[in-house]
Amino acid sequence: MDYLGVVLIVAAVAAAFVVIARNQAWKGRRARAENDSQLALAKRTAEAAVAGLIEALTRLAPVAEQDPVAQAEYQHADAARVRAVRCLHEATEPDELCLVTENLEEGRWTVARLAARAAGEPMPSRRPPCFFNPGHGPSARNIHWHGRNVPACTADGARIDAGADPYIRTVERGSRRVPYWEGGPAYAGWARGYYAPWQGSTLVADIVRQA
Ligand SMILES: [Zn+2]
Repeated sequence: MDYLGVVLIVAAVAAAFVVIARNQAWKGRRARAENDSQLALAKRTAEAAVAGLIEALTRLAPVAEQDPVAQAEYQHADAARVRAVRCLHEATEPDELCLVTENLEEGRWTVARLAARAAGEPMPSRRPPCFFNPGHGPSARNIHWHGRNVPACTADGARIDAGADPYIRTVERGSRRVPYWEGGPAYAGWARGYYAPWQGSTLVADIVRQA
């Protein structure tokens, strides 16, 4: 092979590497853009849930002043709120939002106890979040819905008993709004965190697969 032939081969190989590198860079940029867009969507959903906990804590602040037990519960819920906010800010992947909602589940449960205390009602037993919208807080009972046994809050349970539709949390997917369990990978971590403490419980056996 003469000198020119070697130069041409080297040039062709170098050009191929440039094409491959550009391709990989483009794929990397596209994957990052997809991740960022899913993260932004999921963060917006998680931010709304954190705002719900903050609103509940603000409403129940006077209850916390009543006695040391209520005060300890309030601080417990507030600590969960602080952890949820920190995890929200630190999340770089949509899946990491499970840490946000795991803390929100803890916070909402403690808020439910404070609310019962404020209303002079018996302390509720700990139950998984409402399936239709985990932001509704802890469920009141399990109910059969479309062939599944799912936890439902009092309001959604009553709607279903009356033959109406539950208030389902919808999320953005492309140009449509769909139930969160059809929201795809962007919302998988967000949903999973709510039910993470309930892994293995028969109360959520019909939904953990989707969450
Ligand atoms: Zn509900």
